[in-house]
Amino acid sequence: MSFSRNNRNRNSGYDRRPRENREMFDVVCSKCEKNTQVPFKPDGERPVYCQDCYKENRPKRPSRF
Ligand SMILES: [Zn+2]
Repeated sequence: MSFSRNNRNRNSGYDRRPRENREMFDVVCSKCEKNTQVPFKPDGERPVYCQDCYKENRPKRPSRF
């Protein structure tokens, strides 16, 4: 859970930058070994996935099914 820091300035209106300005990091997907980019810096310990594998890994389905 390394994203918890980002919740600090939630309602301050500080977060209006364009998304394109995000820094992207070149990584190799841990699952399909495809070259891809992620918007966070890999820590070298946790597996990093491309967008396709990431979606498969954490499906966002509604809790009421
Ligand atoms: Zn992949």
